[in-house]
Amino acid sequence: MPRHLLDLGPDDLSALFVAWGEPRYRASQVARWALKRGVTTFDAMTDLPAALRVRLNEEFTLAAPPLLTSTVTDDGATTKALLGLGNGDSVETVRMAYDSEDPEAFGRATVCVSTQVGCAMGCVFCATGQQGFTRNLTPAEILAQVLHFTREGRATNVVFMGMGEPLANTSATLAAVRWMIHADGLDLRARGITISTVGLRTGIHRLAAEGLQVGLTISLHAPDDDLRRRLIPTAGGTTIDELVAAAREYIEATGRRVTFAYALLDGVNDSEEQARLLASRIRGIQAHVNLIPYNPTAGTGLRRPSRDRVRAFHRVLQAEGINATVRVERGVEIAAACGQLRTDYVQRQSLTLV
Ligand code: SF4
Repeated sequence: MPRHLLDLGPDDLSALFVAWGEPRYRASQVARWALKRGVTTFDAMTDLPAALRVRLNEEFTLAAPPLLTSTVTDDGATTKALLGLGNGDSVETVRMAYDSEDPEAFGRATVCVSTQVGCAMGCVFCATGQQGFTRNLTPAEILAQVLHFTREGRATNVVFMGMGEPLANTSATLAAVRWMIHADGLDLRARGITISTVGLRTGIHRLAAEGLQVGLTISLHAPDDDLRRRLIPTAGGTTIDELVAAAREYIEATGRRVTFAYALLDGVNDSEEQARLLASRIRGIQAHVNLIPYNPTAGTGLRRPSRDRVRAFHRVLQAEGINATVRVERGVEIAAACGQLRTDYVQRQSLTLV
């Protein structure tokens, strides 16, 4: 199986053409065809010399993963797609378009990408976490999710919030980000890209050292370390204080505000006392809290809190001087929990096979 061309980063692609005795601008030409126009064959690159197209065909592929299934909701604003990766693996991606009701978001189209098939983090509230880990995605497989949507429309923002932990696959995540922000690539603003992590400190340090202007979201989900360890078993060795310190380092390195994600679980982490404790842990840092009322996943036994409880939690944070918002939910009807579309599909396939 030939290597996918988009597994090469921008510098690697330039080096390849130089090594082949081609002018440097070939890298720009090929990247523009592959990423801006989204072509999936080298034969479509009509301004390349025929001999070069033959050589590219011999050594690389640009094939796009096939669409296995998709669902659309929110009056067409949200689309969730499941892409086939071969060997029975699949990965899901979502595009959310925002309408004129929110002037700040007008014209925005956000693609939520996955970075792994499954996930090893085992968060107790997550459908993907319950499925276990299969493998890391390659840079080309991460980019393919955005390209799936840009071939038909637009993407202005990318969030790394689908299946998997991006900072457990940092090299591929960063390689994909480099093409996303490259002028010959998807040419997105770095500030329009957000990497969401369950809190892998080494990954956060590495990201801070890259000096990219991408946004960082750290999942806290609990105001104390004991509860956090129960909700995110792999959080084991990392304390909330250590994560706040890592967030501070990221803010200093990038000048960007960090977001703390907090999934509100009924009767588990949503009391007013817990809101006060949370405020005390993160006070003084240039951060924002994104409250996410839980979207129940079958088999977890966890519930979504009432609106009143969500409002009360939010009010306490605000009264404590913490900048917080409740997430506007998109795609709830079509399975908002990451991994849910894949779970449904895999179950349907196994039913068919029985
Ligand atoms: S919430 Fe994210 S990090 Fe946790 S198990 Fe699910 S995919 Fe993995």
